[in-house]
Amino acid sequence: MTKHVIIGGGPVATNAIETIRQYGGGEASITLISDEPAHSRMALPYWLAGKVPREHTHTADDAEFSRLGVDAKIGQRATAVDTSARTVTLCDESTVAYDNLLIATGAAPVGLSVPGSDLPGVQSLWTLEHTASLLAATEGVDAPRVTMIGAGFIGFIMLNAMHERGWNLTVVEREGHVLPRMLDAESAGLVASWLGKKGVTVHTGASVESISEGEGGSKVVSLAGGATVESDVVIVATGIRPNTDLASEAGIETDQGIIVNGRCQTSAEGVYAGGDVAQGPVLGGGGNQVHSIHPTAVDHGRIAGANMAGHDAEYSGSLSLNILDVCGLQNASFGNWSDTSDDAVTISNAADHIYRKFIFSGDQMTGAVFVGEANDLGMLTDVGMVKGIMQTQADLGAWKGFLKENPFDVRRAYIGTGVAATLARTTLLGQKAQPRGYHFGGQSAPVAVGGSHAQLVSPKAAAMEKAAAVAAAMAAEAEAAENSESAE
Ligand SMILES: Cc1cc2nc3c(=O)[nH]c(=O)nc-3n(C[C@H](O)[C@H](O)[C@H](O)COP(=O)(O)OP(=O)(O)OC[C@H]3O[C@@H](n4cnc5c(N)ncnc54)[C@H](O)[C@@H]3O)c2cc1C
Repeated sequence: MTKHVIIGGGPVATNAIETIRQYGGGEASITLISDEPAHSRMALPYWLAGKVPREHTHTADDAEFSRLGVDAKIGQRATAVDTSARTVTLCDESTVAYDNLLIATGAAPVGLSVPGSDLPGVQSLWTLEHTASLLAATEGVDAPRVTMIGAGFIGFIMLNAMHERGWNLTVVEREGHVLPRMLDAESAGLVASWLGKKGVTVHTGASVESISEGEGGSKVVSLAGGATVESDVVIVATGIRPNTDLASEAGIETDQGIIVNGRCQTSAEGVYAGGDVAQGPVLGGGGNQVHSIHPTAVDHGRIAGANMAGHDAEYSGSLSLNILDVCGLQNASFGNWSDTSDDAVTISNAADHIYRKFIFSGDQMTGAVFVGEANDLGMLTDVGMVKGIMQTQADLGAWKGFLKENPFDVRRAYIGTGVAATLARTTLLGQKAQPRGYHFGGQSAPVAVGGSHAQLVSPKAAAMEKAAAVAAAMAAEAEAAENSESAE
């Protein structure tokens, strides 16, 4: 009987377990080693905002592990991997033997090394315990003051939850603009001005020199140049680092993360890695990257799981994407969004907080940035459609020129290039994933697809082909008109 061992209880692990069972690994044993309960970090903001209880962030319980035939060692840490003996050592010094090992240990906050960063009330905000600690620290405090050091993607997801609770928020960012790894300076400027309108104070280009105790247990953050910010709690959100130690100590090849190929295999026989700890292939090429996002973790979990179950499943890579709500302003960036190529179109309207940039390479869209309010006409569907255009690596042909001329008319290009139909028939592993078995309290999420959404994504191939033919004819007509104009 094949022995699968998985270290980590995040989305990589959950998806790998379900995929192993879906792909015929019924006879195999699965051992899960996780120091935290199996859960999704993406759900933490909902708990922080007070919308769901803590348990709602969990992705499995004892009954679900038993249904899936998993020996779940929750609360245990793996301390070493021996790739010759094919064993994993646990914190209690016991060992578990494996035929296939999946390292899905995620990442950890890097912290801040300035005086006072170890004071009580100064904390990271990445785990279940961090969230519990922030909720405890602010319990009973009316509109607590929170300073967040670092203005990155995850920090803002949690900031949003705090904003929903009506807390008093200040953001301090060392770089020249907020969201430096997600937005360019111009689009980030719109976000900063929006934050100002929403009552969030933003300091950019501001280095923290120290943190000290203030009056009545408050914390005082001192910035280079002399400014100070006083608050009840300080959140350090200065980035994360993949938990690669187990792998590197075992002699497995690592760089920024554990290097994996399109099957999520590492350099060691029978050892796979995925998610925030892995440096994997990127859709569109350009070398392996650590993505640190949930969709890539799901791709990796499913690809690793299928291969562990004995299938030869290889994929061409995950799309780099960030989609973020900042206090009601929607932001997204995809692919090579920071590419400064001239083969691009940019629309910027600072007064209305609207920004769009589409970047092209050859016939394809290779990067995109969006900022806009959710109720702006087409904003959210356009974000979804651009993601689809990039995910399918659609050859745009004449639609590239059309999009450059009409960046607010994504729908026509989306339909004209047949992206919806391509997406509808595309699955990562050639089969649909089975619906998730575990739902907190037996509740399941509503799955009804709205009318407009159904038109875009349901596999109505004939309707799609008809729409594509109409749109292609329109594009050809537009191109012919353009050619005859330039001939005149
Ligand atoms: C607050 C928050 C909000 C987020 N929101 C989004 C979002 O909206 N969209 C998005 O795309 N991404 C989001 N992310 C990122 C996303 O959650 C991660 O990309 C994803 O969780 C990575 O999954 P993973 O399985 O690789 O690692 P993790 O989910 O981090 O799971 C790894 C697990 O392994 C455990 N572990 C580590 N080392 C050991 C060891 N030696 N022994 C035993 N166990 C170990 C860890 O404690 C952890 O429980 C968010 C992250 C956070 C923190």
